[in-house]
Amino acid sequence: MRKLLLIVTALVLLLTSCAADKQSVSTEAMDTFMKFEYYGDEKAGDELADMVKSLDKALSVTDKNSEIFRLNSDGSTPLSKDSLRLIKRSLELCEKLGGTLDITILPVVEKWGFINQNYRVPPKSEIDEALKKVNYNNVSVYNSSVTLKNGAKIDLGAVAKGYAADKSKQILREHRVSSAILNFGGTIAAVGSKPDNSPWRVGIADPENPSGYLGFISCRDKIIATSGGYERYFDNNGRRFIHIIDPKSGYPVDNDIASVSVISGDGVLCDALSTALFVKGLSGALRYCRDNEDFDCVIVTKDKKIYISDSLADSFTLSDDSYKIIKE
Ligand code: ADP
Ligand code: MG
Repeated sequence: MRKLLLIVTALVLLLTSCAADKQSVSTEAMDTFMKFEYYGDEKAGDELADMVKSLDKALSVTDKNSEIFRLNSDGSTPLSKDSLRLIKRSLELCEKLGGTLDITILPVVEKWGFINQNYRVPPKSEIDEALKKVNYNNVSVYNSSVTLKNGAKIDLGAVAKGYAADKSKQILREHRVSSAILNFGGTIAAVGSKPDNSPWRVGIADPENPSGYLGFISCRDKIIATSGGYERYFDNNGRRFIHIIDPKSGYPVDNDIASVSVISGDGVLCDALSTALFVKGLSGALRYCRDNEDFDCVIVTKDKKIYISDSLADSFTLSDDSYKIIKE
Protein backbone atom coordinates (compact mmCIF):
# COMPACT_ATOMS: atom_id res chain seq x y z
CA MET A 1 0.00 0.00 0.00
CA ARG A 2 2.75 2.39 0.98
CA LYS A 3 4.64 1.53 -2.19
CA LEU A 4 1.55 2.29 -4.26
CA LEU A 5 1.14 5.64 -2.50
CA LEU A 6 4.76 6.49 -3.27
CA ILE A 7 4.31 5.63 -6.94
CA VAL A 8 1.14 7.72 -7.16
CA THR A 9 2.84 10.69 -5.46
CA ALA A 10 5.82 10.39 -7.79
CA LEU A 11 3.48 10.27 -10.79
CA VAL A 12 1.56 13.35 -9.65
CA LEU A 13 4.83 15.23 -9.12
CA LEU A 14 6.06 14.19 -12.55
CA LEU A 15 2.85 15.25 -14.26
CA THR A 16 2.72 18.64 -12.56
CA SER A 17 6.33 19.35 -13.39
CA CYS A 18 5.63 18.48 -17.05
CA ALA A 19 2.60 20.77 -17.29
CA ALA A 20 3.70 24.07 -18.87
CA ASP A 21 3.28 27.27 -16.90
CA LYS A 22 0.41 29.58 -17.67
CA GLN A 23 1.70 32.84 -19.08
CA SER A 24 -0.06 36.12 -19.67
CA VAL A 25 1.41 39.05 -21.57
CA SER A 26 -0.44 42.31 -22.31
CA THR A 27 0.53 45.05 -24.68
CA GLU A 28 -0.88 47.95 -26.65
CA ALA A 29 -0.56 48.05 -30.42
CA MET A 30 -2.67 48.94 -33.45
CA ASP A 31 -4.73 51.37 -31.36
CA THR A 32 -5.98 48.62 -29.13
CA PHE A 33 -5.26 46.56 -26.03
CA MET A 34 -3.96 43.04 -26.63
CA LYS A 35 -3.64 40.11 -24.27
CA PHE A 36 -1.85 36.83 -24.91
CA GLU A 37 -2.47 33.86 -22.61
CA TYR A 38 -0.77 30.56 -23.23
CA TYR A 39 0.97 27.59 -21.67
CA GLY A 40 4.71 27.49 -22.28
CA ASP A 41 7.87 29.50 -21.88
CA GLU A 42 7.98 33.22 -21.09
CA LYS A 43 9.86 34.19 -24.23
CA ALA A 44 6.98 33.27 -26.55
CA GLY A 45 4.83 36.07 -25.09
CA ASP A 46 7.61 38.64 -25.42
CA GLU A 47 8.08 37.63 -29.05
CA LEU A 48 4.35 37.96 -29.70
CA ALA A 49 4.41 41.46 -28.21
CA ASP A 50 7.49 42.39 -30.28
CA MET A 51 5.79 41.04 -33.41
CA VAL A 52 2.61 43.16 -33.02
CA LYS A 53 4.64 46.25 -32.13
CA SER A 54 6.86 45.91 -35.19
CA LEU A 55 3.86 45.25 -37.46
CA ASP A 56 2.25 48.37 -36.00
CA LYS A 57 5.43 50.32 -36.67
CA ALA A 58 5.40 49.23 -40.31
CA LEU A 59 1.68 49.58 -41.00
CA SER A 60 0.64 52.66 -39.02
CA VAL A 61 -0.96 55.42 -41.09
CA THR A 62 -0.07 58.10 -38.52
CA ASP A 63 3.53 57.28 -37.57
CA LYS A 64 5.71 59.37 -39.89
CA ASN A 65 8.41 56.70 -39.77
CA SER A 66 6.17 53.82 -40.86
CA GLU A 67 6.45 52.11 -44.23
CA ILE A 68 2.82 52.77 -45.06
CA PHE A 69 3.13 56.45 -44.12
CA ARG A 70 6.12 56.68 -46.48
CA LEU A 71 4.19 54.90 -49.23
CA ASN A 72 1.19 57.20 -48.78
CA SER A 73 3.28 60.35 -48.91
CA ASP A 74 5.77 59.32 -51.64
CA GLY A 75 3.36 57.31 -53.82
CA SER A 76 5.91 54.58 -54.46
CA THR A 77 8.38 52.74 -52.25
CA PRO A 78 9.98 49.35 -51.62
CA LEU A 79 8.34 47.55 -48.70
CA SER A 80 9.27 44.85 -46.21
CA LYS A 81 8.07 41.27 -46.68
CA ASP A 82 5.22 41.59 -44.17
CA SER A 83 3.76 44.79 -45.64
CA LEU A 84 4.10 43.42 -49.14
CA ARG A 85 2.53 40.08 -48.32
CA LEU A 86 -0.38 41.73 -46.52
CA ILE A 87 -1.01 44.22 -49.33
CA LYS A 88 -0.96 41.49 -52.00
CA ARG A 89 -3.36 39.27 -50.09
CA SER A 90 -5.63 42.22 -49.26
CA LEU A 91 -5.82 43.24 -52.93
CA GLU A 92 -7.01 39.72 -53.84
CA LEU A 93 -9.65 39.94 -51.14
CA CYS A 94 -10.77 43.46 -52.18
CA GLU A 95 -11.40 42.01 -55.65
CA LYS A 96 -13.12 38.86 -54.37
CA LEU A 97 -15.34 40.93 -52.09
CA GLY A 98 -16.45 43.21 -54.92
CA GLY A 99 -14.90 46.33 -53.41
CA THR A 100 -16.84 46.16 -50.12
CA LEU A 101 -13.35 45.82 -48.67
CA ASP A 102 -11.11 48.54 -50.07
CA ILE A 103 -7.67 49.14 -48.58
CA THR A 104 -7.52 52.58 -50.25
CA ILE A 105 -10.37 53.87 -48.08
CA LEU A 106 -8.01 56.15 -46.07
CA PRO A 107 -8.85 59.53 -47.71
CA VAL A 108 -12.50 59.03 -46.73
CA VAL A 109 -11.73 57.67 -43.25
CA GLU A 110 -9.64 60.83 -42.69
CA LYS A 111 -12.52 63.12 -43.71
CA TRP A 112 -14.71 61.63 -40.98
CA GLY A 113 -11.96 62.22 -38.40
CA PHE A 114 -11.43 58.57 -37.51
CA ILE A 115 -7.66 58.90 -37.90
CA ASN A 116 -7.04 61.88 -35.61
CA GLN A 117 -10.20 61.56 -33.44
CA ASN A 118 -11.45 64.95 -34.63
CA TYR A 119 -14.81 63.46 -35.51
CA ARG A 120 -17.03 65.45 -37.85
CA VAL A 121 -19.69 64.97 -40.52
CA PRO A 122 -18.02 66.25 -43.70
CA PRO A 123 -20.09 67.94 -46.42
CA LYS A 124 -21.01 65.61 -49.28
CA SER A 125 -18.75 67.54 -51.67
CA GLU A 126 -15.72 66.68 -49.51
CA ILE A 127 -16.71 63.02 -49.35
CA ASP A 128 -17.14 62.87 -53.12
CA GLU A 129 -13.76 64.52 -53.63
CA ALA A 130 -12.07 61.99 -51.29
CA LEU A 131 -13.95 59.10 -52.92
CA LYS A 132 -12.26 59.83 -56.25
CA LYS A 133 -9.03 58.58 -54.68
CA VAL A 134 -10.58 55.36 -53.39
CA ASN A 135 -10.07 52.33 -55.60
CA TYR A 136 -7.87 49.35 -54.79
CA ASN A 137 -7.06 49.08 -58.53
CA ASN A 138 -4.88 52.17 -57.99
CA VAL A 139 -2.41 50.00 -56.07
CA SER A 140 0.18 48.08 -58.04
CA VAL A 141 2.87 45.75 -56.81
CA TYR A 142 6.04 45.24 -58.81
CA ASN A 143 8.77 43.02 -57.33
CA SER A 144 9.07 44.33 -53.78
CA SER A 145 7.77 47.84 -54.49
CA VAL A 146 4.27 49.25 -54.28
CA THR A 147 3.05 52.19 -56.34
CA LEU A 148 -0.12 54.22 -55.80
CA LYS A 149 -1.82 56.31 -58.47
CA ASN A 150 -4.65 58.86 -58.61
CA GLY A 151 -3.99 60.04 -55.07
CA ALA A 152 -4.66 56.62 -53.49
CA LYS A 153 -3.62 56.08 -49.87
CA ILE A 154 -3.51 52.75 -48.08
CA ASP A 155 -5.09 51.82 -44.72
CA LEU A 156 -4.63 48.21 -43.61
CA GLY A 157 -6.66 48.71 -40.41
CA ALA A 158 -9.30 46.21 -41.52
CA VAL A 159 -6.82 43.33 -41.94
CA ALA A 160 -3.73 44.03 -39.80
CA LYS A 161 -4.92 42.22 -36.67
CA GLY A 162 -5.82 39.15 -38.71
CA TYR A 163 -2.32 39.18 -40.17
CA ALA A 164 -0.84 39.41 -36.67
CA ALA A 165 -2.99 36.43 -35.65
CA ASP A 166 -1.62 34.43 -38.59
CA LYS A 167 1.97 35.37 -37.76
CA SER A 168 1.52 34.32 -34.14
CA LYS A 169 1.14 30.68 -35.17
CA GLN A 170 4.75 30.46 -36.31
CA ILE A 171 6.05 32.04 -33.09
CA LEU A 172 4.06 29.60 -30.96
CA ARG A 173 5.28 26.65 -33.03
CA GLU A 174 8.91 27.72 -32.55
CA HIS A 175 8.37 27.77 -28.79
CA ARG A 176 6.42 24.49 -28.83
CA VAL A 177 3.34 26.21 -27.42
CA SER A 178 0.30 24.13 -28.30
CA SER A 179 -2.32 25.80 -26.11
CA ALA A 180 -3.00 29.53 -26.32
CA ILE A 181 -5.75 32.11 -26.45
CA LEU A 182 -4.51 35.33 -28.01
CA ASN A 183 -6.60 38.48 -28.09
CA PHE A 184 -5.47 40.98 -30.70
CA GLY A 185 -8.29 43.38 -29.81
CA GLY A 186 -11.42 42.02 -31.47
CA THR A 187 -9.52 39.36 -33.40
CA ILE A 188 -8.91 36.24 -31.34
CA ALA A 189 -6.66 33.27 -32.07
CA ALA A 190 -7.70 30.10 -30.24
CA VAL A 191 -4.64 27.90 -30.63
CA GLY A 192 -4.93 24.16 -29.99
CA SER A 193 -7.28 23.49 -27.09
CA LYS A 194 -7.29 24.15 -23.36
CA PRO A 195 -4.61 22.27 -21.40
CA ASP A 196 -7.26 19.73 -20.29
CA ASN A 197 -7.96 19.13 -24.00
CA SER A 198 -11.42 20.72 -23.94
CA PRO A 199 -12.12 23.34 -26.65
CA TRP A 200 -11.57 27.06 -26.08
CA ARG A 201 -14.71 29.11 -25.48
CA VAL A 202 -14.59 32.45 -27.27
CA GLY A 203 -17.16 35.08 -26.30
CA ILE A 204 -19.12 37.03 -28.90
CA ALA A 205 -19.64 40.56 -27.55
CA ASP A 206 -23.17 41.86 -27.08
CA PRO A 207 -23.28 44.87 -29.45
CA GLU A 208 -25.71 46.64 -27.08
CA ASN A 209 -23.44 46.13 -24.10
CA PRO A 210 -20.00 45.29 -25.51
CA SER A 211 -18.37 44.52 -22.17
CA GLY A 212 -20.68 41.49 -21.92
CA TYR A 213 -21.18 38.47 -24.16
CA LEU A 214 -24.33 37.31 -25.95
CA GLY A 215 -22.90 33.85 -26.54
CA PHE A 216 -19.84 31.66 -26.89
CA ILE A 217 -18.21 29.62 -29.61
CA SER A 218 -16.35 26.44 -28.69
CA CYS A 219 -13.45 25.89 -31.02
CA ARG A 220 -9.94 24.56 -31.52
CA ASP A 221 -7.30 26.04 -33.79
CA LYS A 222 -9.44 28.85 -35.14
CA ILE A 223 -9.24 32.59 -35.55
CA ILE A 224 -12.33 34.67 -34.82
CA ALA A 225 -12.50 38.25 -36.06
CA THR A 226 -15.37 40.51 -35.08
CA SER A 227 -16.31 43.85 -36.60
CA GLY A 228 -18.80 45.76 -34.51
CA GLY A 229 -20.42 49.14 -34.91
CA TYR A 230 -19.73 49.60 -31.18
CA GLU A 231 -15.93 49.46 -31.54
CA ARG A 232 -15.30 53.02 -32.76
CA TYR A 233 -17.98 55.59 -33.51
CA PHE A 234 -19.25 59.07 -32.79
CA ASP A 235 -22.74 60.49 -32.39
CA ASN A 236 -23.90 63.66 -34.09
CA ASN A 237 -27.42 65.11 -34.05
CA GLY A 238 -28.91 61.84 -32.83
CA ARG A 239 -27.19 59.77 -35.52
CA ARG A 240 -24.40 57.27 -34.99
CA PHE A 241 -21.42 57.20 -37.36
CA ILE A 242 -19.26 54.05 -37.14
CA HIS A 243 -15.69 53.45 -38.29
CA ILE A 244 -16.63 50.98 -41.03
CA ILE A 245 -17.18 52.85 -44.28
CA ASP A 246 -19.04 51.81 -47.40
CA PRO A 247 -16.47 52.43 -50.16
CA LYS A 248 -19.29 53.03 -52.67
CA SER A 249 -20.93 55.94 -50.85
CA GLY A 250 -18.09 57.14 -48.60
CA TYR A 251 -20.50 57.13 -45.63
CA PRO A 252 -20.18 55.06 -42.46
CA VAL A 253 -22.21 51.88 -42.78
CA ASP A 254 -25.70 52.17 -41.32
CA ASN A 255 -27.60 49.00 -42.13
CA ASP A 256 -29.37 46.13 -40.35
CA ILE A 257 -26.13 44.64 -38.94
CA ALA A 258 -24.78 45.23 -35.42
CA SER A 259 -21.76 42.93 -35.63
CA VAL A 260 -20.18 40.24 -37.77
CA SER A 261 -17.85 37.53 -36.49
CA VAL A 262 -15.99 35.33 -38.95
CA ILE A 263 -14.34 32.05 -37.97
CA SER A 264 -11.75 30.14 -39.96
CA GLY A 265 -8.12 29.03 -39.82
CA ASP A 266 -7.04 32.09 -41.82
CA GLY A 267 -6.72 35.34 -39.86
CA VAL A 268 -6.49 37.76 -42.78
CA LEU A 269 -9.54 36.15 -44.40
CA CYS A 270 -11.50 36.42 -41.12
CA ASP A 271 -10.56 40.05 -40.58
CA ALA A 272 -11.23 41.09 -44.19
CA LEU A 273 -14.57 39.29 -44.22
CA SER A 274 -15.80 40.64 -40.90
CA THR A 275 -15.42 44.18 -42.28
CA ALA A 276 -16.72 43.40 -45.78
CA LEU A 277 -19.76 41.37 -44.70
CA PHE A 278 -20.68 44.26 -42.43
CA VAL A 279 -20.61 46.58 -45.47
CA LYS A 280 -22.68 44.13 -47.53
CA GLY A 281 -25.60 44.23 -45.08
CA LEU A 282 -27.59 41.21 -43.92
CA SER A 283 -28.95 39.86 -47.20
CA GLY A 284 -25.70 40.40 -49.12
CA ALA A 285 -23.69 38.89 -46.26
CA LEU A 286 -25.94 35.82 -46.03
CA ARG A 287 -25.70 35.32 -49.78
CA TYR A 288 -21.90 35.54 -49.64
CA CYS A 289 -21.80 33.04 -46.75
CA ARG A 290 -23.98 30.59 -48.68
CA ASP A 291 -21.78 30.85 -51.79
CA ASN A 292 -18.44 30.50 -49.99
CA GLU A 293 -17.65 27.64 -47.67
CA ASP A 294 -14.15 28.38 -46.44
CA PHE A 295 -15.37 30.12 -43.27
CA ASP A 296 -18.19 30.23 -40.72
CA CYS A 297 -19.90 33.32 -39.41
CA VAL A 298 -22.11 34.76 -36.72
CA ILE A 299 -24.05 37.84 -37.83
CA VAL A 300 -25.87 39.84 -35.16
CA THR A 301 -28.56 42.24 -36.35
CA LYS A 302 -29.75 45.44 -34.72
CA ASP A 303 -33.14 43.79 -34.12
CA LYS A 304 -31.40 41.17 -31.96
CA LYS A 305 -31.34 38.19 -34.29
CA ILE A 306 -28.27 35.99 -34.59
CA TYR A 307 -27.63 34.27 -37.91
CA ILE A 308 -25.14 31.44 -37.56
CA SER A 309 -23.59 29.09 -40.11
CA ASP A 310 -25.02 25.57 -40.07
CA SER A 311 -21.68 24.08 -39.15
CA LEU A 312 -21.52 26.23 -36.00
CA ALA A 313 -24.91 25.07 -34.70
CA ASP A 314 -23.37 22.65 -32.21
CA SER A 315 -20.54 24.88 -31.10
CA PHE A 316 -22.46 28.11 -30.41
CA THR A 317 -24.07 28.60 -26.98
CA LEU A 318 -26.45 31.50 -26.46
CA SER A 319 -26.10 33.19 -23.09
CA ASP A 320 -28.51 36.10 -23.56
CA ASP A 321 -32.15 35.14 -24.12
CA SER A 322 -33.10 38.52 -25.51
CA TYR A 323 -31.38 37.40 -28.74
CA LYS A 324 -32.95 34.88 -31.10
CA ILE A 325 -30.90 32.38 -33.11
CA ILE A 326 -31.78 31.99 -36.78
CA LYS A 327 -30.06 28.97 -38.34
CA GLU A 328 -28.77 29.51 -41.86
P1 ADP B 1 -11.62 46.92 -35.99
O1 ADP B 1 -10.33 47.52 -36.45
O2 ADP B 1 -12.38 47.79 -35.05
O3 ADP B 1 -11.49 45.51 -35.51
P2 ADP B 1 -12.35 46.31 -38.68
O4 ADP B 1 -11.49 45.11 -38.77
O5 ADP B 1 -13.72 46.16 -39.24
O6 ADP B 1 -12.56 46.85 -37.22
O7 ADP B 1 -11.59 47.48 -39.45
C1 ADP B 1 -12.07 48.78 -39.47
C2 ADP B 1 -10.96 49.69 -39.92
O8 ADP B 1 -10.66 49.45 -41.30
C3 ADP B 1 -11.39 51.15 -39.86
O9 ADP B 1 -10.94 51.75 -38.68
C4 ADP B 1 -10.76 51.76 -41.10
O10 ADP B 1 -9.44 52.15 -40.79
C5 ADP B 1 -10.72 50.63 -42.07
N1 ADP B 1 -11.93 50.50 -42.91
C6 ADP B 1 -13.17 51.01 -42.71
N2 ADP B 1 -14.01 50.65 -43.68
C7 ADP B 1 -13.29 49.88 -44.54
C8 ADP B 1 -13.58 49.19 -45.75
N3 ADP B 1 -14.81 49.19 -46.28
N4 ADP B 1 -12.58 48.51 -46.35
C9 ADP B 1 -11.34 48.50 -45.83
N5 ADP B 1 -10.99 49.11 -44.69
C10 ADP B 1 -11.95 49.79 -44.04
MG1 MG C 1 -11.76 43.48 -40.14
